[in-house]
Amino acid sequence: MKIIILSRGPRLYSTKRLVEAAKQKGHEIRVVDSLRCYMNISSNKPTLHYKGEEISDIDAVIPRIGASVTFYGTAVLRQLEMMGVFPLNESVAITRSRDKLRSLQLLSRKGIGMPVTGFANSPDDIPDLIKMVGGAPLVIKLLEGTQGIGVVLAETKKAAESVIEAFLGLKANIMVQEYIKEAGGADIRCLVVGGKVVAAMKRQAKEGEFRSNLHRGGSATLVKLTPEERKTAVKAAQIMGLNVAGVDLLRAERGPVVMEVNSSPGLEGIESATGKDVAGMIIDFIEKTAKPHKTKTKGKG
Ligand code: ADP
Ligand code: MG
Repeated sequence: MKIIILSRGPRLYSTKRLVEAAKQKGHEIRVVDSLRCYMNISSNKPTLHYKGEEISDIDAVIPRIGASVTFYGTAVLRQLEMMGVFPLNESVAITRSRDKLRSLQLLSRKGIGMPVTGFANSPDDIPDLIKMVGGAPLVIKLLEGTQGIGVVLAETKKAAESVIEAFLGLKANIMVQEYIKEAGGADIRCLVVGGKVVAAMKRQAKEGEFRSNLHRGGSATLVKLTPEERKTAVKAAQIMGLNVAGVDLLRAERGPVVMEVNSSPGLEGIESATGKDVAGMIIDFIEKTAKPHKTKTKGKG
């Protein structure tokens, strides 16, 4: 097969591993920087160009679109979808997953467990918003933050009020969330590929920190999932419309709650914590699934 990876970093671990796995399985694979792609959108003949050449006859595309280039990256991916190229994850699903609030709204409709979450616009509604999510301590999050940046724990009602006020004053989009204290600074990353959890790890925040992100100094270990956790992760990925997803769960007293669903999950942490060939499994999935013009949403916005 002819595969392209949309990635800005050919030297990034995940990109390198996917290239390696595809080559090993006999595929032709190439890393393409989405910001250097340009498109011709004309009737019946959408084309994609890269540094002066036309990109054509591609069977599948693996999007690894960074949060800072979501808009342009998903436009390039959509163009490939219009050309009939099979996307590992679809542009629509990626756009959904980039907005934490939109994701939770979609998941809530289908009854997935989640921390109680509130969203408001006016400072006048802050006191009620705080009450709604169960009071302090609570978590305040930027809708489009990643790697733990933009996630704040407010220990008291006073602190919560002033942080929310400050964010709203800056016109930042934030949501307010029940703090799952019993998770003890740990979360579970479930790597879902093609409707199955193929690897999972527990990430523990470093001493004195509540955010378990590896980028924030968290450490990863192997974890055994309960059947309920497994089911929740698979269902969350399916609702988002993602073939490949990193579903992050917290172990709450009432059961697993989904915090977020990542559409470009990093492979380094999970492959080293579990010793599994996740990149290989992703390529296997593409081999099995890719067909021209096969998208779930037909490119619907
Ligand atoms: P990011 O996209 O920046 O990773 P997350 O929503 O995943 O943002 O939050 C980062 C980390 O903060 C999580 O991995 C988790 O350890 C912690 N965290 C986030 N929300 C909550 C919550 N409601 N209760 C307890 N811990 C949380
Ligand atoms: Mg996270």
